[in-house]
Amino acid sequence: VQAVFRSNLSHLLELMGSGKESLIFMKKRTKRLTAQWALAAQRLAQKLGGARRDQKQVLVHIGFLTEESGDVFSPRVLKGGPLGEMVQWADILAALYVLGHGLRVTVSLKELQSNLGAPPGRGSCPLATPLPFDLVYTDYHGLQHMKRYMGLSFRKYRCRIRVIDTFGTEPAYNHEEYATLHGYRTNWGYWNLNPKQFMTMFPHTPDNSFMGFVSEELNETEKQLIKGGKASNMAVVYGKEASIWKLQGKEKFLSILNKYLEIHGTVYYESQRPPEVPAFVKNHGLLPQPEFQQLLRKAKLFIGFGFPYEGPAPLEAIANGCVFLQSRFSPPHSSLNHEFFRGKPTSREVFSQHPYAESFIGKPHVWTVDYNNSEELEAAIKTIVRTQVDPYLPYEYTCEGMLERVHAYIQHQDFCAAPGPAPPRARAPESPFILAPNATHLKWARNASLAPGAWPPAHSLRAWLAAAGRACTDACLDHGLICEPSFFPFLNSQDAFQTLQVPCDGTESEMNHLYPAFAQPGQECFLQKEPLLFSCAGSSSKYRRLCPCRDFRKGQVALCQDCL
Ligand code: UDP
Repeated sequence: VQAVFRSNLSHLLELMGSGKESLIFMKKRTKRLTAQWALAAQRLAQKLGGARRDQKQVLVHIGFLTEESGDVFSPRVLKGGPLGEMVQWADILAALYVLGHGLRVTVSLKELQSNLGAPPGRGSCPLATPLPFDLVYTDYHGLQHMKRYMGLSFRKYRCRIRVIDTFGTEPAYNHEEYATLHGYRTNWGYWNLNPKQFMTMFPHTPDNSFMGFVSEELNETEKQLIKGGKASNMAVVYGKEASIWKLQGKEKFLSILNKYLEIHGTVYYESQRPPEVPAFVKNHGLLPQPEFQQLLRKAKLFIGFGFPYEGPAPLEAIANGCVFLQSRFSPPHSSLNHEFFRGKPTSREVFSQHPYAESFIGKPHVWTVDYNNSEELEAAIKTIVRTQVDPYLPYEYTCEGMLERVHAYIQHQDFCAAPGPAPPRARAPESPFILAPNATHLKWARNASLAPGAWPPAHSLRAWLAAAGRACTDACLDHGLICEPSFFPFLNSQDAFQTLQVPCDGTESEMNHLYPAFAQPGQECFLQKEPLLFSCAGSSSKYRRLCPCRDFRKGQVALCQDCL
């Protein structure tokens, strides 16, 4: 069956159910964004021409909202709890629905069970019951639920699952045996899924897929109106919880801000002003989303105090014409040194509060400065107050951008197919690689028919031998490219090393998330034995990693030029 774009979302609102505060928040958002989604659908339909899109049957099981997983969020929706997750789930539902897929939504185990076709009551169904869905979007809590209720069929059907995972899961943490043997065990990882089945909030971990969310878009008239209506020195502080105001060295920091700016906050409070928030701050309390947007429209500056990490609000601020000012983290925060990241299945180092804003948007919209350096901070504020910036929203965070990306994933990502194409063998006369003069760069120039059905298409591969100590994630970015783990199989062969003119004295095949790689002392080449461990992340001064990079569309880093 062909999928048909939908522009009327009232049936989706019904599907979302009711009762919980979290669902009310999500439904309000979906309603408010209806016109925007409809317009985006029209544009994408035009862009895709008549291309055939298969309609999928999709289950969305939001595990963290179930009572059984403690549903800690719903009661906190009205108290400044993490709304970012709710924003993302609302947008995922909208995208799937607008794209025209068959949709079921569950937020309790009872509903999950009845949708899985498992017999109601205790226990899982012992036999492999066919799964009535092509795709299941869930979270780590939901994975547990599915495993419990699907019994034997879980193994068979887990390739259809997509896990919404804000901060990402690196391959070393995902592979059960490897994680256990090498100290990568956490509360979350070790599901042995294809790492691309995990979907993140920002495109920070190319080993996973980037799901994202949307921000409200402005038309030209609104943009002009906003630019004209900015209060010259108004700043809003990022964060709804009073605890963020306990930051270190805050007196000095706040006194500098207060010298140039009128400071506003949206800190949740019960009846009294939160004691952490100084008297000169105009605190509005937690605002309904549309009112929060209105506040951003007037403000010149949106200021991060270091927490929360990587939420939607800075994008909304920038989309509403604010400058986002945030602190650089030195040393970077990670699961090794920061409570928040501890136990999360990633070793990623975070160099500022919002790395996406820093590296994908940057100046003039985003200023990342050292807050301990008063001169740098003061100079930044002085400049920001004097400059005018246009509202800006990266394409990947528009409704059209999200629809385009989710459409591409649904049509092309298939983790149930038999293990990928066998690594093609390179022979001299028809060598698949074109060597750059310095022999450290090779380009996949074979006709894509040699790796039929590969997605992204194999000809977008650009391979690099990274410097020692450099992760593939960074090595690719250094060249204006993005690491693409699905290309690792093409590089994991003696031939690839040979074509690269890497002088291997010997070649070994082992389980190591840094392989394929070349170890300089000893001139040994190492191949990856376990495909699940192919990883863009990870580095060691011992190795020069062989990295599969690819190009990407401007403003849509998840997709290569020829990926649609
Ligand atoms: N938000 C809101 N009212 C406020 C402040 C923020 O509705 O007073 C919304 C905001 O529009 C954003 C969402 O809360 O979409 C999540 O914001 P944040 O970036 O703080 O992420 P979180 O930490 O909640 O995941």
